[in-house]
Amino acid sequence: MMTEAVDRIMRFIEATYGEKARTVFQKLFELSKELTDHELAKELNIHESEIRKILYQLSEEGLVNARRVRDRETNYYIYYWRANIKDLPRILLRRKKMIVTILRKRLDYEERNSFYCPRCGRKYSFDEALTNEFRCPECSTPLENIDNSETLKKMRDLIENLEREILEEERRIISRSA
Ligand SMILES: [Zn+2]
Repeated sequence: MMTEAVDRIMRFIEATYGEKARTVFQKLFELSKELTDHELAKELNIHESEIRKILYQLSEEGLVNARRVRDRETNYYIYYWRANIKDLPRILLRRKKMIVTILRKRLDYEERNSFYCPRCGRKYSFDEALTNEFRCPECSTPLENIDNSETLKKMRDLIENLEREILEEERRIISRSA
């Protein structure tokens, strides 16, 4: 797998689940073999209950998966964890799509709210401003225009770049699974 993609997934894990979660995932990724909660805890010097909490979070995201085996002596289940490397491109893609959705909503909001009240700080769309004769309906202060063209341009560029990346990654995933 490309180092750039690995870097990205590590950064994502750290930002979302914290530094310890990244350490856990990195260990599984680098060893690329199965480890139990117990082995990971010992290896990383992190408490077992914390290791388990992290592993469940990562498994919900599909980043790790476990093979469950019943211990004959104790009758408890033992979980053998490994990094789900095969699905990483798909997981990253899903995250990216989510970010685009959030950005689009934000852009939509920024585009619609182009007036603000300098007194109470409320934001209004052009239509709302017009309806209220460009005065704040809350406090009657004359509304001012927000110059957010710079922000809008940055957001549009970002969305465009992400969408291009998504398209390329989708193509790659499809050609790989074909
Ligand atoms: Zn106001």
